Amino acid sequence: MSIKIEKKIVGYDVIKPTQSEDNSKADSVVPAVTESLNTDEGSATIVQMHEKVVRPEMLVGSTYKIKTPISEHAFYITINDMLLNPGTPYEKRRPFEIFINSKNMDHYQWISGLTLIISAVFRKGGDVTFLVDELKSVFDPKGGYFKRGGRFMPSLVAEIGEAIESHLKMIGMIIDNNLDEHQQALVDQKRREYNEKQAATNGNVPNEDSSFPAGSSLCRKCNVIASIMMDGCMTCLNCGDSKCG
Ligand SMILES: [Zn+2]
Repeated sequence: MSIKIEKKIVGYDVIKPTQSEDNSKADSVVPAVTESLNTDEGSATIVQMHEKVVRPEMLVGSTYKIKTPISEHAFYITINDMLLNPGTPYEKRRPFEIFINSKNMDHYQWISGLTLIISAVFRKGGDVTFLVDELKSVFDPKGGYFKRGGRFMPSLVAEIGEAIESHLKMIGMIIDNNLDEHQQALVDQKRREYNEKQAATNGNVPNEDSSFPAGSSLCRKCNVIASIMMDGCMTCLNCGDSKCG
């Protein structure tokens, strides 16, 4: 049974256990995820991410491939998004569910548990970006590993966190705090100077496009092997972190 809502929705209520037995009433609870907002252009009803948002038949998503040296098979992380308020100025993509697939079954048990919990957090709505920090701070007691490009990865869980991070950046939930133009120019200049010096002393011209110079050490701030010693200062060519002395 469907109920047509004639008036604007101005509030909502959480359904009580006694009410949930009555299916006809449960239908009227679906619009609970909406809120009324008065804007300059008039009033609009905005849907926010909420547990009661009904999953449409089809969702759009992205799949991220993770290849680690600790497993022969790659892991594929799929995050599906819900498009809220399509066609309005309040249109936004919010993550709805996550799946992780691999031929490697060693981690099956905890990975299924983790995906169920992450999906539940996604559906709760609100600021889910804390998941990224939590997952990225998990360290494997067996020790992490280095990815191509010299980036240190403390665990497989951290790598899952990183995939979620790139997804949330793509849909605009996390603002990319990359170096600004000025900082980037400074780092680029440092890198050029370092390359010139290297070329002058041992005659090898490093490739500008390649990853960070050979002989770089691990930057404590961004966990990338990109720290070089120049003019008595350790300078990271990835994040710009610098320590002199
Ligand atoms: Zn750094």
